[in-house]
Parts: sequence; C-alpha cells; structure tokens
Amino acid sequence: MQGVEGYNFTLFLTVLPERGIIETGDNLSFRKGAEDMNTDRRKVVLIGTGMVGMSFAYALVNQGGICNELVLIDVNKERANGEAMDLNHGLAFAKSNMKIYAGEYHDCKDADIVVIAAGVAQKDGETRLDLLQRNTEVFRSIIGPVVKSGFDGIFLVATNPVDIMTRVTYELSRFGASRVIGTGTSLDTARLRYLLGDYFTVDPKNIHAYVMGEHGDSEFVPLSQVMLATKQVSKILESDDNDYSMDDMEKIEEQVRTAAYKIIEAKRATYYGIGMAITRIVKAILGDENSVLTVSAKLCGEYGSRGVFIGVPCIIGRNGVKEILELSLTDDEMKKFRDSAAVLEENFDGLKL
Ligand code: NAD
Repeated sequence: MQGVEGYNFTLFLTVLPERGIIETGDNLSFRKGAEDMNTDRRKVVLIGTGMVGMSFAYALVNQGGICNELVLIDVNKERANGEAMDLNHGLAFAKSNMKIYAGEYHDCKDADIVVIAAGVAQKDGETRLDLLQRNTEVFRSIIGPVVKSGFDGIFLVATNPVDIMTRVTYELSRFGASRVIGTGTSLDTARLRYLLGDYFTVDPKNIHAYVMGEHGDSEFVPLSQVMLATKQVSKILESDDNDYSMDDMEKIEEQVRTAAYKIIEAKRATYYGIGMAITRIVKAILGDENSVLTVSAKLCGEYGSRGVFIGVPCIIGRNGVKEILELSLTDDEMKKFRDSAAVLEENFDGLKL
C-alpha cells in the first residue's frame, strides 16, 4: 500500500505542480502522500501590499525556491486580492511553484516569517515624530492580531523609520529580541558595495563593507572595516601607486546616505532595492544560512549600548539573529555609532506606546 501511494504520488507530481495537488484533493491517497512529503513547508505572511511589500513578493516569486506559501494582508483587502491574482497569473513563468493568496491575521498562526511593510505616508506639515506616532498606531492594529493568532516565528520589519518601528514591534509583541529584525542598513550596505565595486572596478561580491547605525541621516561607513577581497581599502588609499583617494571615499559615503532622497525625487518612492533586501533576509532565515547581514537588531551591551535597535552586522539563521558581530571600530567610528544610537533613543523616547 505504501509503495502504491508513493508511486501514485511521484506520478502525480510529474503531471501537476505542487499547488495543484493541494487544491484538487480528488484522491485521498494523493493528498496523504503530499502531506507526508511536505515536511519542508515554508510560509511567509506579508502585511502591507504597497510598493515595498509587492516588490518583495515579486522578487520572492521570481527568485524561486525560497518559500512555498505566501499570504498577502492589507487594510485594503481589495488591493491584497488584486495583488494575489496578479502574482498567481505569473506563476506559470516562475522558477518554482508557490501557493499565493490574500489572507487574514489567523493565517499567521503557522507562518515562519511575518514581513511588515505597512505604513502611512507623511502628510504636509507633519513632523517626523507625528508620522512615527501614526505608524505606531498602524503597528498596534497589526502586531496584536498577529500575536493573537498564535504566531511563533520571526518578525521582519521594513516600515520606516525602520529601526524605531522594529523596536515598536519588539515592545508590542514581547517576542525574544532575536526574533524581531528590521531591514536596518541592509539596503544601504548593498548600495555601498555596488558603488565601491564600481569605483575599484571589482565585483561588489568581493567588496566587504558595511553601513552601520540608523537607516537614515546618521548612518556611517566604518572605513577601517572596508576590504577589497582580503586587502584593507584604507591601505590602498594610503599607497602612492594609485589614484584612489579619501575624498572619493567620502563622496561614496555621501552618495549612499542620500540615495533614497535622489530616488524619491526622481520617481517618488524607492521599492525594488528594498524588496530585494527583504528577499535576501528571508532567504537567509528560511535557509538557515548563518549569513552576515546588516539588519536592525537589539543591542544588549554590544558597542557599549543596550536596548536600542540599530543597523549592525549580524549572523542570520533559522532562529533570526544568531549573533551580533562586534567589529573593531576606531574611536572616531565608535563616536559616530554612539551618536547614531542617541538619535534613535531620542526618537523612541518621544513615542507614546
Ligand atoms: P505604500 O503606501 O505603497 O504601501 C503601504 C501599504 O500599507 C498600503 O497598501 C496600505 O494600505 C497598507 N497599510 C496601511 N495601514 C495598514 C494597516 N493598518 N494594516 C495593514 N496594512 C496597512 O508604501 P510603500 O512605498 O510600500 O512603503 C512602505 C513602507 O516601507 C514605508 O514606511 C516606507 O518608508 C518604507 N520603506 C522602507 C525602506 C527600508 O530600507 N527599510 C525602503 C523604502 C521604503
């Protein structure tokens, strides 16, 4: 009987995609076979199906193989439904199959990751803190129902100001700090590596460098930690054998810091890059990769700070933040880090939670 079930299942798989097996359910033995085999189910819930959320969903579908179930939730249910339909219609062209649907908060119960990209836009004349307060109310309407569903996975926050909203998620959910992550300076780090790769004419994959601190104006690049393969870039800059200069490094850092402003000026919002950054973090978690990514994580004494959520290089695996890497920053870099943490502390302290 087992053999027959196994045989049937294999045959079925060659004929129909995985989604078809679950949805058709016209033969109990097929269904049982599918459930038995489906030990590697990876489910992601996306809350906020705007430009950022859907750029992530689109990257997820196109990169393929990262998860096999994606649930879309938005306060605008019609939009979430439309987005699910649109993505489903592209599945025939995708690398691997996925079950995609517009859902409800109870669908978070057995999810591995809840990604939050929901937020409200800044109104004319509104201060940064007013916007922060309104986004906190948005998060109150989200985190409560997610936790109530029985969700026991990892929160990944992209909504801005991302470091503060990640801390708000931590406070409202009462989850362990390792399971509450913000996208932090992951996108800024990707921008930095791209620009440095272009400058040195080297594949960005061979540039090792991080943007640290707030995802915002007080972020900085610790130059002492920038490496081209295993060569320290600060040493390359000191050498008289080339035209590379410290001035150019400062220009690159400024370009990274102001990139979002430039993109917003040109096309009103940024979304593809952050969508791909979210996808990268989700892949590192679900694949238990132990990859180093600059996410927003809670400091517990690292870099001399405690309590603040801020962009730092972290080892990311199946249980979220496995370790925060403490880099050997120079005194000047440590000061920049402390100043950035102070900006975040001040903003968080101004919030009514
Ligand atoms: P958007 O306006 O296109 O989408 C926001 C979505 O959130 C909308 O679909 C809206 O209906 C939904 N929403 C609002 N209130 C909700 C609620 N209570 N429950 C569920 N859904 C709700 O905005 P966007 O361009 O997608 O940006 C989303 C967020 O991502 C913003 O805060 C933006 O600043 C941020 N962002 C972050 C980064 C980063 O690096 N972390 C980069 C770019 C943008």
